[in-house]
Amino acid sequence: MPEDPVHELRELVDSLSDWLRYQRRLGWRGVSGQRPSPPQDREKPFEPSLEEIRAEMGDCRRCKLYGGRTHLVFGDGPSDARLMFVGEAPGADEDRQGVPFVGAAGQLLNKMLTNLGLRREEVYIANILKSRPPGNRDPEADEIAACLPFLEKQIKAIRPRVIVTLGRISTQALLGTKEPLTRLRGHWQRYDNIRVMPTFHPSYLLRAPQERRKTWDDMQQVMEYLTGHEEA
Ligand code: SF4
Repeated sequence: MPEDPVHELRELVDSLSDWLRYQRRLGWRGVSGQRPSPPQDREKPFEPSLEEIRAEMGDCRRCKLYGGRTHLVFGDGPSDARLMFVGEAPGADEDRQGVPFVGAAGQLLNKMLTNLGLRREEVYIANILKSRPPGNRDPEADEIAACLPFLEKQIKAIRPRVIVTLGRISTQALLGTKEPLTRLRGHWQRYDNIRVMPTFHPSYLLRAPQERRKTWDDMQQVMEYLTGHEEA
């Protein structure tokens, strides 16, 4: 008469359990011989959240620009954005509303995002400077030095897959280089192990529409990279 298959299976499991108990007593810890590694996020150093960084800035007076601003323009977007844009400084509209890229340049940026199949709500947008320079003049070195640490903290908090720097000033400030934008634009760079794609500032593209094709090509590279790394 054939053996009961359930009984046979039980016997097999019992013998396997005995064997495993015996191996453990001999010091065996698993197939790899090592304890499993702890999850990676437990090894990450503590980074302040965007809310904590904003709270730390407070009514910032760390450089002379505080006197002329209406609103401090911190940044806009989700804290887990995969794509981050970094511009130069708030303009008049941004200063009035406290939100980056809401003027004509912002409209062009929004249009580009739509054409790329992205929604503005899924990207994070910030500037090197959080207060508006008078008359939209270029940021000065001491202002960048005072304000850049906050952008750096924002980047650490978000850890985007890709940063797109908009224009010469944001590109040079973030990458710590004097290389002209014409040489950097369209070529992958690195900041803190994050991919950076420098491209033209939308304000420039409003004045030089013939250059929009180049920024479109730069963004195609960004989209190809993000599509190929969907998992994170
Ligand atoms: S530009 Fe930056 S550092 Fe200067 S006052 Fe504004 S927030 Fe502070």
